[in-house]
Amino acid sequence: MAIDLLRLPTDSIVRPDKDRFLNEENPFEAMMSRFDRAAELLDLEPGIYKILRNPEKQLIVSVPVQLDNGDVEVFTGYRVLYNTSRGPAKGGIRFDLKVTLEEVKALAAWMTWKCAVVNLPFGGAKGGVICDPLTMSVGELERVTRRYTKGIISLLGPDTDVPAPDVNTNERVMAWVMDTYSMHVGRTENAVVTGKPIEMGGSQGRREATGRGCMLVTREALDHLGLPMKGATVAVQGFGNVGSTAAKLMATEGCKIVGIGDRAGSFYNAKGIDVDAAIAYVQKHRSLEGFTGAELIDADTLLTLDVDVLVPAALENVITTKNAARIRAKVICEGANGPTTAAADPILDEKGIFVIPDILANAGGVTVSYFEWVQDRMGYFWSEADVNERLGGIMTRSFQDVLSLSKQHRVNMRTAAYMLSISRVATVHRLRGIYA
Ligand code: GLU
Repeated sequence: MAIDLLRLPTDSIVRPDKDRFLNEENPFEAMMSRFDRAAELLDLEPGIYKILRNPEKQLIVSVPVQLDNGDVEVFTGYRVLYNTSRGPAKGGIRFDLKVTLEEVKALAAWMTWKCAVVNLPFGGAKGGVICDPLTMSVGELERVTRRYTKGIISLLGPDTDVPAPDVNTNERVMAWVMDTYSMHVGRTENAVVTGKPIEMGGSQGRREATGRGCMLVTREALDHLGLPMKGATVAVQGFGNVGSTAAKLMATEGCKIVGIGDRAGSFYNAKGIDVDAAIAYVQKHRSLEGFTGAELIDADTLLTLDVDVLVPAALENVITTKNAARIRAKVICEGANGPTTAAADPILDEKGIFVIPDILANAGGVTVSYFEWVQDRMGYFWSEADVNERLGGIMTRSFQDVLSLSKQHRVNMRTAAYMLSISRVATVHRLRGIYA
């Protein structure tokens, strides 16, 4: 009955012209154009197509905060729940000056596909506050976090919406989210947020999980292409939690990290960069500015280095029509969400570059978030070895699932990943039907 309803013959799909990119750098359009292609290949029925093109809930909140100098500033915060058909909404909170509702919507949709591609029982969400945490004191950050959490508290809960760290947020911020929520509900509820400090219900291995996942899928990709991991040259753009951990773990696997970069500078060393030294440098100086372990290059040069693997691990829209044709890497492992624009995809395809798409490549983080949520709810915690072993199993199996779908349908890995995740979400919609 429900299936028939969704297949109403009078429904029609008006698909946007997929070859026309109104705004290459609009992340929601970038997500949608990939979604449309996969939906077409899946021959998705019109009802479900329409449901999945729209976020379930979008909340905009004003976040008034008293700054250290006594002034009051009002920040804008967002939380978008894109789809919760498979389980509680899951997704990070980012603090950044470039946050927009369009971006948060896209990131929430990506979380939906990401959780589905690795088959976690979660839906997708994302949150963000427009602010510059690098210029804020710890006290200001805490006040922004707590007031934003209060603003979105009607959405939050271990069974409804579970945030996590994202760009410019970390374990400390998650501790404030957990405390604010717990104070409001009158009990300690550690499963309301993941990526917490270990001492308060965080999981072993969560901090490294996204970078570890990148390393694992890169190993699978190189193996598939018949390229050895040992000695493979790697450039990593973005040196926050994801980029630095991916670089460190790839180096441990025998790769040679020849290029790294963050917003303060990009660096190249043909002999290989000492990743531990770079990490220690950033811990001390907050960025790579002034790092002396390699030669200073510009950001564009870093992305177009002649390497085996390129890991964009910062923000969206790094690989675009402006530079895609000049990229020389054999494999791109998308540690960031949305680093490649939809318009750049065919250029990379034409060059034969093997792209491990974001929704697969960086799914290690949310996978260990899932482990954390499970452990919090059980009140029983696992060893780091257990966490890493389970993560390894999920990442390699998901990579192989996507790879075989890509061979079966003769599509690239991105389209295959979208097809797999959309079909999983669609199946649940068909089974559940429409509540009326
Ligand atoms: N912010 C991370 C991501 O984009 C993790 C989300 C989570 O663990 O919920 O995947």
